[in-house]
Amino acid sequence: MNFEPVIGLEIHAQLKTKTKIFCGCSTKFGAPPNTHTCPVCLGMPGVLPVLNKMVVEYSLRMAFATNCEINRESRFARKNYFYPDLPKGYQISQYELPIAENGYVNIEINGHKKRIGITRIHMEEDAGKLTHSPNLPFSMVDLNRTGTPLIEIVSEPDLRSPEEAGAYLRHLRSIVRYLGICDGNMEEGSFRCDANISIRPKGESVLGTRAELKNLNSFKHVEKALYYEIDRQKEILSDSGTVIQETRLWDPDKNRTTSMRGKEEAHDYRYFPDPDLLPLVIDDIWINDVKENLPELPNAKTKRFIKEFSLSSNDAEALTSSRELAEYFEESVKEFPNPKQVCNWVTVELLGLLNTKEKTINESPISPGNLAGLLKLIDKEVISGKIAKTVFGEMAKTGQTPEEIVKKKQLVQVTDVSAIEEVVSKVLLNNPKEVEAYKNGKTKLMGFFVGQVMKETKGKANPKIVNEILGKKLKEK
Ligand code: ADP
Ligand code: MG
Ligand code: ZN
Repeated sequence: MNFEPVIGLEIHAQLKTKTKIFCGCSTKFGAPPNTHTCPVCLGMPGVLPVLNKMVVEYSLRMAFATNCEINRESRFARKNYFYPDLPKGYQISQYELPIAENGYVNIEINGHKKRIGITRIHMEEDAGKLTHSPNLPFSMVDLNRTGTPLIEIVSEPDLRSPEEAGAYLRHLRSIVRYLGICDGNMEEGSFRCDANISIRPKGESVLGTRAELKNLNSFKHVEKALYYEIDRQKEILSDSGTVIQETRLWDPDKNRTTSMRGKEEAHDYRYFPDPDLLPLVIDDIWINDVKENLPELPNAKTKRFIKEFSLSSNDAEALTSSRELAEYFEESVKEFPNPKQVCNWVTVELLGLLNTKEKTINESPISPGNLAGLLKLIDKEVISGKIAKTVFGEMAKTGQTPEEIVKKKQLVQVTDVSAIEEVVSKVLLNNPKEVEAYKNGKTKLMGFFVGQVMKETKGKANPKIVNEILGKKLKEK
């Protein structure tokens, strides 16, 4: 039978606010355990939470970026469960009335567009962190993360393949990064996702029974776990079995999912409105302010790059993959207005360099101005494209301007015809056999002669002039 996968994602994004959601403790990562804590985030009796305004601001940004309806009045609720990383015995979250609902994003997959519905976005606090050491008879708890703000973004079950799930996840990550609200790092856990998946016979409109997959901390794991799960569920249904609703854990070492808990063991969280927090009311002034200050988002930027710079959609997408890269590109183009050439150097040379050095665009040793300067030197025929790569490498090492490097290393291109003629004559004189072969029709040897001349001039001869002179001199032979 032909089965169709149905996937919905629950994404948790850690917000980049300076302080926690209900107290003034720092959210900075990497401090000694339990130093970023206070009576509020430690869950002491008698303390009161106070909502961090920035958390609402960031959530509103996300709500707009995902075309959601904003609830003018939303509520915080207590989600009750017992676990040692949760000192209060409940997590403050939103339940019946989240801050935003009914949105969508457009993703592109294999060249076709698809709209993915967003069910809801809600705010909540993160729990602490447990460390289990095999050598100790106890576990250790670090409550620095307790109370760090999160938003949860729940999608409709609109995704139909692991690739679509991956594309959606990447798209949302790019949005949170463009908005500057989350650093989007899956490996470090600041951007996490649970994947719900069921399958059903193609053409069927009723949803199948889903499994919820956890422990997916990279894009690769999300896709791999979904593939595994599709096969597992297919096998069950093909054997006339029934899939049971359960939570399953992805095991990246064994490349499989295993059951964590079934429906019967599912928690009853006994949600109820938090009596310590007032309903959150958002007025028009605030909403309009957020709307007006929203940055240009990835899809819009890609469209504009295609139109304004006449780039292919592949090029435009590569350049807008991050806001910083797009800004780098635009700054370079301002100084050297040949978008296609800047694009090639940015996506091939610069990204290649950053990749090998494991650096981000913000840490680029080559400034947009220096890259533009280099392209200007090629354009004015001061250096050849080949020498430009040498200069580029030198810029990466020293951070110097291209002009400084060209001068210091004497890399200026030789365009002096008589100087090149001299070298060409010498090369032809030294290679009589090849000249003979060339005259007998082996015209491919042209490349060999050019190579020899370039070698003699250490790559500095203008290739166009070299070709011209070689052609002329060989004809004379
Ligand atoms: P819970 O919090 O119990 O996991 P939610 O209603 O918050 O449940 O949603 C879980 C996610 O599961 C949503 O992203 C939704 O789209 C998805 N989902 C719901 N039913 C199915 C199904 N039958 N198959 C696949 N995904 C589903
Ligand atoms: Mg869930
Ligand atoms: Zn605190």
